[in-house]
Amino acid sequence: MKRIAICPGSFDPITNGHIDIVKRSLRIFDEVIVAVAVNLKKKPLFDIEKRVQLIRQSLEGLENVRIESFNGLLVDYVKQKSGVAIVRGLRAVSDFEYEMQMALMNRRLDHEVETVFMMPSEEYSFLSSTMIKEIASFGGSVKGLVPEPVEQALKEVFNLKE
Ligand code: ADP
Repeated sequence: MKRIAICPGSFDPITNGHIDIVKRSLRIFDEVIVAVAVNLKKKPLFDIEKRVQLIRQSLEGLENVRIESFNGLLVDYVKQKSGVAIVRGLRAVSDFEYEMQMALMNRRLDHEVETVFMMPSEEYSFLSSTMIKEIASFGGSVKGLVPEPVEQALKEVFNLKE
């Protein structure tokens, strides 16, 4: 049986840190579904279609990866996709408390779904979508931190020169 992992997140937008985690997941699982959360409390910079499109472009050529959006409870979605695990990235100790809370709550909601944590390469361990948006909004360079299509999309959104 195929072992499917779900990498959930807002991906607003996808960064090289996310890609690092997806690639690491592929070394352990047969298939990875990148699941983009629709129901966000904060208003995203990129709408759901654009976030999915940017992930598609950024992961082009990578085998055994699917990109989807989802609504509602994550554990329900994981079950529906026959996933065996949720994969989350851990950057720093600061991520830990929130991630542990969420993992334990998800376990409570469905004890069959495991959460697996992976550490990104240290060059991405300081990277967040929030920081990328902040840098780009002030005209700073995000080269090497996000994939090319995301760099272009940020330039368009913030009216930056090529
Ligand atoms: P969320 O809003 O659910 O935290 P994100 O899109 O910010 O969604 O992140 C999705 C997942 O990717 C989370 O597990 C997060 O810890 C992880 N992640 C985000 N940035 C990085 C990074 N630079 N390196 C490794 N993992 C990351």
